[in-house]
Amino acid sequence: MREFVIDKLTPFVDHITVDRAGNVLAEKTYRGGHGPTILLNAHLDTVYELEEDRKILKNGTIWFSSKGILGADDRAGVAIILHLAEHLYHSSLSGKVKIIFSVEEECGLVGARQVDDYFLWGTDAAIVVDRRGNGDIVTSCGGIFPFCHQDYGAFFEKVAVEERLSGWTATMGGSSDTRIWAEHGIQSVNLSAGYKNEHTEEELLDVKACYHTTKLLEGVFKRGNELKDVIRKISRNHQEIRNYRRAL
Ligand SMILES: [Zn+2]
Repeated sequence: MREFVIDKLTPFVDHITVDRAGNVLAEKTYRGGHGPTILLNAHLDTVYELEEDRKILKNGTIWFSSKGILGADDRAGVAIILHLAEHLYHSSLSGKVKIIFSVEEECGLVGARQVDDYFLWGTDAAIVVDRRGNGDIVTSCGGIFPFCHQDYGAFFEKVAVEERLSGWTATMGGSSDTRIWAEHGIQSVNLSAGYKNEHTEEELLDVKACYHTTKLLEGVFKRGNELKDVIRKISRNHQEIRNYRRAL
């Protein structure tokens, strides 16, 4: 998987490397890099090994495996980000994109935890694509551990409406690498990748949902400057609260 993504991604980024943990890290600056710096992330590992002689069966837009898991968790997320890297290469975006394809997510976010701090420096916001189903914008882990300010989640809802993509809603979800980026103080969301029944033999992928996630992300990057304003406002408020508390 790692060799595959390096092969696909290399033509569309400025730098690409594998860190000590085995994560793939890549970076690309677009047109002077004046817009936001966005981190895109999906994980390379699957919860179990794939059955070697399995086939991917397709029923309309629904894909499943002839045996064992399908592995769309999180290869659907990987595919969406690879597509986006190619799309952005040909777009008029100004800004910077960092991509992390992490390892060992399924056994406790092991790869993401080992990403060097300095790779994340200057990151304004993160977008993870590793949520089941369609239309979820996950903004917290179980409503207990927030991944972002509500305005960051609301920005994705607004873009979905403007792009005429129905059903996208901010919601709470489970644990994922999103948690690690949030712990670094980065505004983060985890978007639906289109798979269902993950971690079971009934795992399936709706490629139509993948397509819609891709369209949402294209819409987000189309509004790079607006996104930067949202992030700027959130951090200004944080700073004001901090100053106010200090004055008390
Ligand atoms: Zn996953």
